[in-house]
Amino acid sequence: MRAFEKRLQSFEVTETSHTLAAYRSRGGYGALAKALRSMKPADVTKEVYDSGIQGRGGAAFPMGRKWQVVKPDDGLEHFLCANADEGEPGTFKDRWILENAPHLLLEAMAIACYAIGAHHCFIYMRGEFDLSRRRVEGALEEAYGAGLLGERILGTPFSCHVVLVRGAGAYVCGEASGLLSSVEGKKGYPRNRPPRLTVRGLFQKPTVINNVETLSNIPWIIDHGAAAYRALGTPKSPGTRLVSISGHVVRPGVYEIPFGTPLDEFIYEDCGGVTGGRALKAVVPGGISTKVLVAKEIAGLPMDHASLDAAGSSLGSGGMIVIAEGTCMVRLLQVMLRFYHHESCGQCTPCREGTGWMHRIVDRIAAGRGAAGDIDRLIHVSHFNDGTTICGLGDAAGYATVGILDKFRDEFEHFMAHGRSRCGGSLA
Ligand code: SF4
Repeated sequence: MRAFEKRLQSFEVTETSHTLAAYRSRGGYGALAKALRSMKPADVTKEVYDSGIQGRGGAAFPMGRKWQVVKPDDGLEHFLCANADEGEPGTFKDRWILENAPHLLLEAMAIACYAIGAHHCFIYMRGEFDLSRRRVEGALEEAYGAGLLGERILGTPFSCHVVLVRGAGAYVCGEASGLLSSVEGKKGYPRNRPPRLTVRGLFQKPTVINNVETLSNIPWIIDHGAAAYRALGTPKSPGTRLVSISGHVVRPGVYEIPFGTPLDEFIYEDCGGVTGGRALKAVVPGGISTKVLVAKEIAGLPMDHASLDAAGSSLGSGGMIVIAEGTCMVRLLQVMLRFYHHESCGQCTPCREGTGWMHRIVDRIAAGRGAAGDIDRLIHVSHFNDGTTICGLGDAAGYATVGILDKFRDEFEHFMAHGRSRCGGSLA
């Protein structure tokens, strides 16, 4: 096992590691005390900006730039929301933090609120996360009891209240504007932008939305400084990244790796390689909305945003799926399109109708009833969404579909010609 730099996971996960006592025993809430007692809000934002940290939810937007838009002393009410609605298939690293280090998130949120001048913040959590809910509720109770949240935190003039809001499990509620609609008690419909949410967000007030993992870097940055953070990872992608890995891999789970770690070394050395000694067929590097890469494309490929982009994919949400030789890509695309079709909220015609058409076309190919021209029809419909929809779900369905057809068109042609899978139709 490679000796990775350990930060977020620098404590052993035990029966009690989610508790305040365990978190404090390793210096927890020290960064909050430092920020409140010795830094101005603008100093905190500058440290975060200088660290170069990028969002971990998928878009990789610089966190400091987002915070800079919200001026703590502009006389407006501000809000912060932690996006804990992790719903991308294959992505489960935020849940790891919620279950094992809920105080890390709470400390980070209090520091973020101090920086942007917010006094009320929300954790928007996927409704299915029951253990996460219990752990976060327990942590909230402990933090309020210890004066780490609430009025006059740690005896300073700063007050901050955190409310846990549970979603009902819609994928679009993980999209920032859909999340806000849901917190406001409306249907979780994504909204057209502009205006940016940092200008008019929750209840039309300036609102910062950060992903759970993104926020969880903040205490370390405040404790150690921006320069130390930049010393990890690569110049364009500083720091470390949580990666959840699943699929045909010997040791699935959540790993913290420095940006720039070669993808093949990660799979073979750290995660034990492909199950059953099979050859690697492909990798979905960052959640199913990122384009699939075949085995030869990942050899020596550094896991950072610039390198993955140059390879024609993305590090996305950090949810890596390993696909072994023998897996049927027609069946895999069928499962993926069922998901997108089901999760389309229906506001935009190209997404509502397009995901349905794509799903139906692949369904009939997988049933051995593909019609002449179906593969090109699928590609054509995949492009319907390009730039025409309110949120990224429509585009993502198209990217994922075109990505698989680009690399595995021969498997679809075989299915069309013979009415059955070249790989036995297996996903196992
Ligand atoms: S792209 Fe799809 S999911 Fe997103 S708002 Fe439009 S219909 Fe809803």
